[in-house]
Amino acid sequence: MPIRERFKLGPVEGVRVGRFNKGVNTTFVLYRWADTLIDAGPTNQWKPVRSFLDEKPLRQLLLTHHHEDHAGNAARISNRYNLTPIAPQQCENKLTNGYKTPLLQRIIWGRPQAVATTALPDQVPMPDGSTLVPLHTPGHARDLHVFHIPDQGWLFSGDLFIARAIRYLRSDEDLQLLVNSIRKALELDFDTLFCPHRGIVEKTGKDMLSQKLDNILKLCQQAQDLNAQGVETDQIVIKLLGPEDYMAKSTRFNFSKRNMITEALKVSVQAA
Ligand SMILES: [Zn+2]
Repeated sequence: MPIRERFKLGPVEGVRVGRFNKGVNTTFVLYRWADTLIDAGPTNQWKPVRSFLDEKPLRQLLLTHHHEDHAGNAARISNRYNLTPIAPQQCENKLTNGYKTPLLQRIIWGRPQAVATTALPDQVPMPDGSTLVPLHTPGHARDLHVFHIPDQGWLFSGDLFIARAIRYLRSDEDLQLLVNSIRKALELDFDTLFCPHRGIVEKTGKDMLSQKLDNILKLCQQAQDLNAQGVETDQIVIKLLGPEDYMAKSTRFNFSKRNMITEALKVSVQAA
């Protein structure tokens, strides 16, 4: 059942869309700050996305990364509102030329559409005079950026947060880079997170992100201790995260607990 939850915090409004209501990973929240939209939402949700965007004039679209739930509608938005999406330079090729996604992702989000973009500048002026500052936070994806609004103490977190505990990792995710990126984001001054999956985490956003880091590092330490005792990786997966479930099977192990543990074994647990 699709859910149409609305969000509002100060000048920021959000709407949750999704084909399936199976938890935060199958739904998506678009945030708009007056005439500025942050991430475009998945293509199979174009109808509710379009009616949300038609409510008032739209002038710019900022993308956090290329994943299809975030950038899927960028081409339609570009055409309908006559704008060029602003996106990390690291994903310009993918967005311009298009890219394939696995079947399960196509069922959940639809097919992303190719779109020409322009590169994220160092700072983006917001409608009320505040400044948005992009920060490169690779790990979940090579191109992922979060958007910091120092004046308000806000962080548009792309997919840096999602949840306090993660049990699965995509095969192309780099856990060490993710840890480094969370550390980097935690140095910023903010308290409220705008997460496109979880929703708005008001006031406790930084604390929640910090808990995510602690949880990852704890899991890495436990995995490395078991590894040092000679326990096989498959057994570490079962001991710490339980057996693989439908998630790994339905994604042909692209999104699995084993990816999480394999990466956890490589992470340097001590702060740099
Ligand atoms: Zn993503």
